[in-house]
Amino acid sequence: MTKKCAVVTGITGQDGAYLSELLLEKGYKVVGVVRRSSHFGVATHRLDWLGVTDHVELVDGDLLDLGGLCRIIREHKPDEVYNLAAQSFVKTSWDQPSLTAQATGVGVVNVLEAVRLEAPHAHFYQASSSEMYGLIQEAQQSETTPFYPRSPYAVAKLMGHWMTVNYRESFDMFACSGILFNHESPLRGLEFVTRKVTDAVAQIKLGKLNELAVGNIDAKRDWGHAKDYVRAMWAMLQHDVADDYVVATGRTVTVRDMIHVAFDHVGLKADDYVRIDPRFFRPSEVDVLLGNPDKVTKTLGWTPTITMEQMIREMVDADLVRHGGSQP
Ligand code: GDP
Repeated sequence: MTKKCAVVTGITGQDGAYLSELLLEKGYKVVGVVRRSSHFGVATHRLDWLGVTDHVELVDGDLLDLGGLCRIIREHKPDEVYNLAAQSFVKTSWDQPSLTAQATGVGVVNVLEAVRLEAPHAHFYQASSSEMYGLIQEAQQSETTPFYPRSPYAVAKLMGHWMTVNYRESFDMFACSGILFNHESPLRGLEFVTRKVTDAVAQIKLGKLNELAVGNIDAKRDWGHAKDYVRAMWAMLQHDVADDYVVATGRTVTVRDMIHVAFDHVGLKADDYVRIDPRFFRPSEVDVLLGNPDKVTKTLGWTPTITMEQMIREMVDADLVRHGGSQP
């Protein structure tokens, strides 16, 4: 039997790395689209961390280059395409709104178009985001909750979401939108609050840093583990029909409480080190997100297995090792 082939954009990111690991375990050929930079070459450190770099095929491509995407899809004729690439940091999206609209919004159109033209039967996954709920219209957000984006990032993600729905309805493509709530891991970028916290806690514990400066610690998020969440992506593309799903834990926690979990893990008091710095406030904030995972659980049998506390401890331990210490 020939191997199934998956094309993954954003393969060098957190989710791309965990998804590659999962797909390789399942026997897929994994082709990753990477945007080369003259400064850094290809950033494979996340794939390296999971030991999968040598088992995936990396090809040059850019979400803004439709011709190149078409060539990649034509050459590999994938069974599945996962669009994980984006300008993914909310705060940066106010500084680079046009770039975010291009990469995070128009980029989705280009990938959908390449799939429609070159492999119309491929199953397509779009990485949508709980940030699309923004100023929440229901206390717990499900697939039917109206959206109200609060950042250029969220507006661009909403374009990608509706394009995915529209290509499914217009062209009968197997296109799914996964509305994933915040998901983290030791491979999360340092700009996101969980990883910023666990990295700082590790450095403070090792005597390399004196304080942790953060923004709005009253914000609440529904945090899960990326390793759990990539299983949901895959499951969506194996189902009989294409659909949209919320992926979440169904529990929301303040940034403050998450910070306490991290400090407690190394036996330090958060209040001795945390400083509020208005530089980290956002022009408009998403105060609280709480997802309802009923549909993904009932339809695809997906449930999360890793709690926020377990995840934060794993992240602190990984950052302690990275900074030259040993785990507590
Ligand atoms: P987001 O939900 O995709 O924006 O994920 P982030 O991890 O970047 O932010 C989650 C929440 O933490 C937001 O409400 C931020 O305003 C809040 N937050 C508070 N302090 C910080 C900080 O220092 N850095 C970041 N990234 N977020 C912070």
